[in-house]
Amino acid sequence: MRIHHLNCGTHCPLGGALFDGSSRGPLASIVTHCLLIETNQGLVLVDTGYGLQDVRHPHPRISRLMRAVLNIRLRERETALRQVEQRGFSARDVRHIVLTHLDFDHAGGLEDFPQARVHVMESERDAAEKKRRDFAARLRYRPAQWDDVRDWRAYAAGGEPWFGFDAVRSLDGLPPEILMVPLPGHTLGHAGVALRTDQGWLLHAGDAYFHHREMNVRHPHCTPGLSAYQTLLAADRAARRDNQQRLLDLKRRHGSQIAIFCSHDAEELKALQQIADGFNPAPRGGRLPDSARARHPA
Ligand SMILES: [Zn+2]
Repeated sequence: MRIHHLNCGTHCPLGGALFDGSSRGPLASIVTHCLLIETNQGLVLVDTGYGLQDVRHPHPRISRLMRAVLNIRLRERETALRQVEQRGFSARDVRHIVLTHLDFDHAGGLEDFPQARVHVMESERDAAEKKRRDFAARLRYRPAQWDDVRDWRAYAAGGEPWFGFDAVRSLDGLPPEILMVPLPGHTLGHAGVALRTDQGWLLHAGDAYFHHREMNVRHPHCTPGLSAYQTLLAADRAARRDNQQRLLDLKRRHGSQIAIFCSHDAEELKALQQIADGFNPAPRGGRLPDSARARHPA
């Protein structure tokens, strides 16, 4: 499996370091980390970020409020489709898309890959498709982004133990090295995606956390901007906190075997891209930078 780490969407909210912890200017720099995986079953995407139609006709595909709050930079070159093409493939080569969840910043590129089968947790599909939706659900779930998708596969939670989590291994048409790991909280059917590589496991934790320092096993910390954003958008706050704690425990216990990263942290993305550039398939957890590196319990 060859794995590419892509940024498929940039957010530059006003607040700078209050969000990302490091920007010097007034605007923060937040990425949308997606994966492109070359497998024997064709190309697989984990999340899609924003798509071509989002760039060309952002509304109503994205709510005006969220676009303004996040200061979303819609760039054609950042769409998954253009990045797939840049690597010499075509949209048709993408056979599967595994989604951490259906928020607008993860599902925008689905319709750029009409041949792809889309894998998602059943509870996420149900939440997104509910007819009567509250204000937050209307902001985050934008049916215009996915109402043309025909080949859905929705999964009930559970079935396969994975490092103490209850995972879903048998994704229809995908190799057993790709699992979904339910991590509800941010949304009701939110899930991480685990990949087994020759060098160890990768866990794309989606929006289960937002900043690399939240996974600092000694002093977990989140910036005030991202902390408020996560709290406001959590569909189940208690479950979100529980699952974040479980991820910290996972890193404490098994961090040398698993590299954990989230969707929206630019430092994690850069570190994984640098490692992947010189070393593909993916790295060992132990070779990650500080942000994602494990500390073994003494
Ligand atoms: Zn997100």
